[in-house]
Amino acid sequence: MERKIKVVDVTLRDGEQTAGVVFANPEKIRIAKLLDAVGVDQIEAGIPTMGGDEKEVIKQIVDLGLKADIIGWSRAVVSDVQASIDCGVDAAAISISTSDIHIKNKLKKDRQWVLSNMAKAVEFAKKNQLYVSVNAEDASRTDMDFLIEFARIGREAGADRIRYCDTVGVLDPLTMYDNVKTLIEATGMAVETHTHNDFGMATANALAGAKAGATYMGVTVNGLGERAGNASLEEVIMTLEQLWDMKLGYDTTLLKQLSEYVAKASGRQLPVNKAIVGDNVFKHESGIHADGILKCAATYEAFLPEQVGLTRGIIIGKHSGSHAVLAKLAEHGYETDHDTAEQVLKRVRHMSIEMKRSLLDTELIDVYKEYMKL
Ligand code: MN
Repeated sequence: MERKIKVVDVTLRDGEQTAGVVFANPEKIRIAKLLDAVGVDQIEAGIPTMGGDEKEVIKQIVDLGLKADIIGWSRAVVSDVQASIDCGVDAAAISISTSDIHIKNKLKKDRQWVLSNMAKAVEFAKKNQLYVSVNAEDASRTDMDFLIEFARIGREAGADRIRYCDTVGVLDPLTMYDNVKTLIEATGMAVETHTHNDFGMATANALAGAKAGATYMGVTVNGLGERAGNASLEEVIMTLEQLWDMKLGYDTTLLKQLSEYVAKASGRQLPVNKAIVGDNVFKHESGIHADGILKCAATYEAFLPEQVGLTRGIIIGKHSGSHAVLAKLAEHGYETDHDTAEQVLKRVRHMSIEMKRSLLDTELIDVYKEYMKL
């Protein structure tokens, strides 16, 4: 069944462009396999025209024979596209700036030059049977009339979709929605979102794009990427599957494993409060919350931990209540009464403040045994 919305992962390209991040080739292979196991539709594997190890690993990823289509990223330059063809990829992402600020200051060219170079590169890729995403770099700061013209000429050259890049992450969801809607209404072209997180709205902007009709969502694992990063794969996929209940068939149970692996390979530790996959997402300490969770998990959890490969934990500390103490002691085989739990809790609070942290299970058991003179 054809998915209504497809996920395009760019961790191995934009993610690796994060300052200071380099993936070893075996890490790239493993990340590609995990992405494929999750069911990601397209994997942007790297930049073939860099040559050397980069080109070699892209070929190796192609040779894995994954279900996902493999994309090679390139500039709108025929020799770049040729390097993608050499690797045997399924698709080319052909990128060129469309905003005047980029055209004048970076490229030092004019709009006409952009259109003709883009068209040449796209035509060359199509002649070589590649699926083509034509990427409008800095689309969000591009004059809309010019962006529409760019999309139309791209489509005439054979492009299959346009990547709408919020390259410096300056959109908010409402503006993103309006812009993507305008672009689709004017061109009828399939749109991919590519949103950066400079104002913390990358995921929200990607989803706003989908609401406006974009059918491809560009993401990276853990939101890795240039500067503040990109829309996060795990946040976007869980929104599609859980909040929007789209039943697209992505295997979300692998998300924690994928995030952990990319965190390790990139040397960027996963924050404990990272949405969807952080270690603390299913940890409960405060008395009212822990009590609610023990009675019915849905009281304070938006989804089940096993949906993303996490586990639930009740934490004993300063803000704990007696119900959690009772439950935690019972978990370790110590059945006790409410009055005892209250007394143990007083000591737990004191210790927690003294140590400025929650207690380990073994520390709680020690407090209990001491109180009971066991
Ligand atoms: Mn980017």
